[in-house]
Amino acid sequence: MSSGTLYIVSTPIGNLEDITLRALRVLKEADFIAAEDTRHTQKLLSHFNIHKNLTSYHDHNKEEKAPVITARLLEGQSAALVSDAGTPGISDPGYYLINMAIRKIIPVVPIPGPTAAIAALSVSGLPTDAFVFEGFLPPKRSQRLLKLDSLKTERRTIILYEAPHKILKTLMDIRDVMGERRVSLSRELTKIHEDTLRGNISDIIRTVESAYGAAGNGESQASRGRSAGIRGEITLIIEGLMGEPLPARAEDPLAIIESLMRDRGLSRKAASAEAARITGLSRKEIYNASLKK
Ligand code: SAM
Repeated sequence: MSSGTLYIVSTPIGNLEDITLRALRVLKEADFIAAEDTRHTQKLLSHFNIHKNLTSYHDHNKEEKAPVITARLLEGQSAALVSDAGTPGISDPGYYLINMAIRKIIPVVPIPGPTAAIAALSVSGLPTDAFVFEGFLPPKRSQRLLKLDSLKTERRTIILYEAPHKILKTLMDIRDVMGERRVSLSRELTKIHEDTLRGNISDIIRTVESAYGAAGNGESQASRGRSAGIRGEITLIIEGLMGEPLPARAEDPLAIIESLMRDRGLSRKAASAEAARITGLSRKEIYNASLKK
């Protein structure tokens, strides 16, 4: 028996009018729909008068559900994979199932449509000829700083997803690590309170700080997740490095470790990892050498 098809169906990131005609047809015709949040998707389906079996597939059950879903596909059923919003697999658990289906030689077909990354990029006014999508920064601060450091010399436009309660701190870290540059912050795209702030990062920081009602003190308020301040879903676009390349960094690994610990507050371990990346030396050796210094 030939296997069914797994359709990767993009759904609106806010405005329901952004659903495509093809997405509606595939959602109606599929044998079942695998949804990140079945209640959320049920609302979408009810709006379009679609009545269909839903099964949940999310980050916390993906390892147990992906084999069940692919088994049904191998039996000949067709499935539509949808995430809460946008394109499945873009910073959501879709990748795991898509990858498993491909490995089992199940046809995987895209039903393209909205994705926050491209929507935000398209209105940013920043170069779109070459860009890099980084999704969410790592949750741990030391790793976030390392990631930003590695993006410092990136010449392509950079796309990031960020949570509203972290955005102020993230903007400050970007300015500290990557320097002054243009950014575009898109919030609640396609929804009633959609807006896009464009400008130098310092100007955007000031605007976001004033939204918290506490200029210069946004960090603690932001991290407490107060009800005031910037809310909603945010996609941040950062201008790539312009002009001459940055001067080569000092190659002394111990000096690099010290400066990362002093200036960026990294742990010795994280600083050694970064110094190893920069110099190409062994992380363990330079970590041990820095302990003896
Ligand atoms: N798969 C989705 C896509 O294709 O856009 C992204 C899923 S990711 C878990 C959710 C993140 O996308 C949000 O935290 C936010 O950073 C961004 N996002 C989603 N909807 C958005 C919107 N309407 N406006 C701005 N950013 C949005």
